Amino acid sequence: MSIKEYFVSIFKGIHSLLQGMAVTGRELVTPKVTEQYPENRDSLQIPERFRATLQFIYDENGRHKCIACRSCERNCPNGTITITTRAVDLGNGKKKNKLDVYTYDLGSCTFCGLCVQTCPTDAIEFSNDFEQATFRREALVKQLNYLPDIDDEPAPAQTEAKPAPEPKTEASAPAQTEAKPENNDNNDDKQA
Ligand code: SF4
Ligand code: SF4
Repeated sequence: MSIKEYFVSIFKGIHSLLQGMAVTGRELVTPKVTEQYPENRDSLQIPERFRATLQFIYDENGRHKCIACRSCERNCPNGTITITTRAVDLGNGKKKNKLDVYTYDLGSCTFCGLCVQTCPTDAIEFSNDFEQATFRREALVKQLNYLPDIDDEPAPAQTEAKPAPEPKTEASAPAQTEAKPENNDNNDDKQA
């Protein structure tokens, strides 16, 4: 190495050092963006569409809209959702499968959103509640239908809707009368 090259390398080293110090000095006076979490928990702005965990949508009466069709379970690419159903007697001689337990494993969810997109009744959504950390993996497995199931009771709503067609049943053909012999009994009772 010549004397010239020696001094050039020293100059480059000093120049590099000054460049680094300039960056450090600039950051020293710029406004800080550090989140003071969890002290600022109340003022945190979490984007609405942030997908933190799956949840049921309950209305003000505590009812959800899941019809246990299993569409979300089938479309989940990694088996995060498990649905069990039970047969419920509708009281008219028919039975219907209703949701028993809706299990969601947050630990295996990839937040792809396919379950929400394919739900025909918009019964589920993603919450942006990001504080889902836990020390136990089992705690990540959640039952989403956690409220007492009162979906069996709205059956009267269907019963109330049925009386409307009754006039049509009387006016129309006996074919329907044959299909619903119980209605005849009811009508007789009413007439009596
Ligand atoms: S977001 Fe994707 S991975 Fe998570 S439960 Fe829904 S379908 Fe499954
Ligand atoms: S959450 Fe939606 S897609 Fe899943 S079982 Fe219920 S109604 Fe069907």
